[in-house]
This record gives sequence, structure tokens and C-alpha cells, in this order.
Amino acid sequence: MSEKNLAAPCGIYCGACRQYLLSKKGLLEERGYKQGCKGCRIRNKNCTFIRRDCPALKKRELEFCYECENFPCQKLQKIDSYYQEKYSVNMIGNLKRLEEVGVKKWLQEQEKLYTCPKCGGEICVHDAECYDCGNKINPNIE
Ligand code: SF4
Ligand code: SF4
Ligand SMILES: [Zn+2]
Repeated sequence: MSEKNLAAPCGIYCGACRQYLLSKKGLLEERGYKQGCKGCRIRNKNCTFIRRDCPALKKRELEFCYECENFPCQKLQKIDSYYQEKYSVNMIGNLKRLEEVGVKKWLQEQEKLYTCPKCGGEICVHDAECYDCGNKINPNIE
């Protein structure tokens, strides 16, 4: 598995995504979901809203949105606002950090951020919940 698999081009950390974690933990059926996801770059499809509409990402001309001359474009700003409001995730901030520290370090930071302080398990950002012990937490909120 390439190290970039869990770093989506739009700045989402797939390792904390509901679709990814439910699939990884075999919880899809139990939670009433049909389809999981193995991460943006493996799935090679249209996850994140942006990709299906963005020719540059679709054609894989760019690895990350921060490389784009239009960064942060309106579409990205829109989804970033939605994610900030709903999940307290700052995608544009994530992309800036990605550019600053590189994908390897960023992934380490994200993995640490979404590790449950109670049990060391994995936190889903969409459900604000540790899927290993049920701890209700969104680590982006102090
Ligand atoms: S659904 Fe999107 S954010 Fe979630 S794991 Fe797949 S590509 Fe990543
Ligand atoms: S910032 Fe650039 S690469 Fe990213 S979605 Fe917008 S146009 Fe596409
Ligand atoms: Zn836990």
C-alpha cells in the first residue's frame, strides 16, 4: 500500500472516514451501509465531491489541491466550509500543512490525532466516535 493512500487530494484524511473505517472493521452491515471505501487513491473513483467535477484531479495531473494554480478554488472552499461546520475539519488547513511537512509526516500527525485517548483505537470523524470502544469524541474540537 502506498503511503499516500489515506491522504486524499482534497485534504481529507481517509483513515478517519466512516466509509473507510466501517469497511476496515467489518461493521458495514451492522451499521446499515452497503459500500465501504479503501481510501481515495485506491478507490480511484469519485469520492470526494470535488474529484468528479475537477478535470485536473480526474486526470491525475495533480497529487494534491495545494499544487493547483487555482488553490483554493471555489469548489474546494465550499466543501471546506461544509466540513468545517459539520466536522470541524479544515481541509484547506490540512492541505497547507501537507505542503509544509510532506505527506509522510502529515499522515503520522493525522493517525495520532484520530487515535482514541481511551483505548488507542480508531476514531471516525463523521460519527465523532471511536469505533473500538464507543468513546464519543471529535479530536478537532477542544
Ligand atoms: S469515501 Fe472518500 S474520504 Fe472516505 S475513504 Fe473513501 S476516498 Fe477517503
Ligand atoms: S484546487 Fe484545483 S485541483 Fe483542487 S479541486 Fe480546485 S481546481 Fe481542482
Ligand atoms: Zn476508543
